[in-house]
Amino acid sequence: MDLVEFQGKQLFARNDVPVPPVGSVCRTVDEIVAAAQKHLEGDASAVVVKAQVKTGGRGKAGGVKLATNVDEAREHAGSILGLDIKGHIVEVVYVEPASDIAEEYYLSVMHDRVNKGHLIICSREGGVDIEEVNRTNPDAVIKRTLTPSETADGLSPEVARDIVTAANLPAEVLDQATDLLVNLFAAYRDEDATLAEINPLIRTEDDRVIALDSKVTLDDSAAFRHDGYADWKLDGLEANDPLEAEAQAKGIQYVKLDGEVGVLGNGAGLVMATLDVVAQNDGRAANFLDVGGGASADAITQSLDLVLRDPDVKSVFINIFGGITRGEEVANGVVEATQRLGDFPQKLVVRLDGTNAEEGRAILEGADLPNVVAAATMQEAAATAVELARSA
Ligand code: GDP
Ligand code: MN
Repeated sequence: MDLVEFQGKQLFARNDVPVPPVGSVCRTVDEIVAAAQKHLEGDASAVVVKAQVKTGGRGKAGGVKLATNVDEAREHAGSILGLDIKGHIVEVVYVEPASDIAEEYYLSVMHDRVNKGHLIICSREGGVDIEEVNRTNPDAVIKRTLTPSETADGLSPEVARDIVTAANLPAEVLDQATDLLVNLFAAYRDEDATLAEINPLIRTEDDRVIALDSKVTLDDSAAFRHDGYADWKLDGLEANDPLEAEAQAKGIQYVKLDGEVGVLGNGAGLVMATLDVVAQNDGRAANFLDVGGGASADAITQSLDLVLRDPDVKSVFINIFGGITRGEEVANGVVEATQRLGDFPQKLVVRLDGTNAEEGRAILEGADLPNVVAAATMQEAAATAVELARSA
């Protein structure tokens, strides 16, 4: 699960990663104005009004603005609330006492699946797109992958210092940056994050090093160790994808992808293979969906309903290999599901193989469903589904 900035900063703060003074979470113009007033009457000479959405590049999109008085804050509130940032509509805004920036750096810790370790990236050139810096000036970006055994007792201060020194951070902040990185790594590990990114990490005018932004992804598989992440679920913060959220609630293994061929299969391996065949036929899968072992009429109805409600889906490839689940059960499930779901515009291509596949195909043919096309092989089914999506 992705956290928004203010949540990531809360997580940093409780792990002794320095952040700016605590701000206010707001949902209306009035709340933003009141928060700005409170902070400006306190120690802050300016506040920063920041859109809380689960995507980066908020600054460029007009979602991060400084205000030195209440009128400016009101103006920013009006322009930021409801703003569309890469398809994310701003409903929550964070008003934070502004920091004085002397320099902007980059620091992150993330899972490195390729090298099977924890990847730490640090650069003196932060505040901007780090991938861009990596392309144009790769020497300015320090990357270290540490194996889990090297970090079994946490990140050692020696290694941390080595990294921030290699990134050429100025001498006067090396001690602070070292401590911060050790604590950031502990936060990442103890909170079961897969990503903890600070961009920018800043040096303030009075030489303090603090996290001005945060991007934290928590490992959903570890949710059981953290009370289901209930603390981080907040009204107005969108789930990553509404259909994914619904699938998760129903216990369906579903991942939204960006193509147009809906995919539904039994068993994760088969579904993966299905995505490949769709791609080999120059199509793109709209999703990954594993109906699981039983493939009962209920499971198929719920899964199909989900896939068909995705506006990107132009055709659906149902790929079932009968094992314990027999072909006629699946076929009956498909027949019942299409009857229960009523009218829908997409065509379904069904490939049945394995136990009692022939009986299953006979049931499908006998039912004579206008939206269902039976296919004998995976290849034929994929080609048909891609073609139907294209002509839809
Ligand atoms: P992002 O655009 O989504 O990455 O949002 P950030 O939180 O990183 O903010 C974007 C930029 O706004 C930063 O790189 C800073 O240059 C600027 N900014 C954000 N907060 C402050 C602040 O407290 N003071 C000042 N002076 N600038 C800020
Ligand atoms: Mn940022």
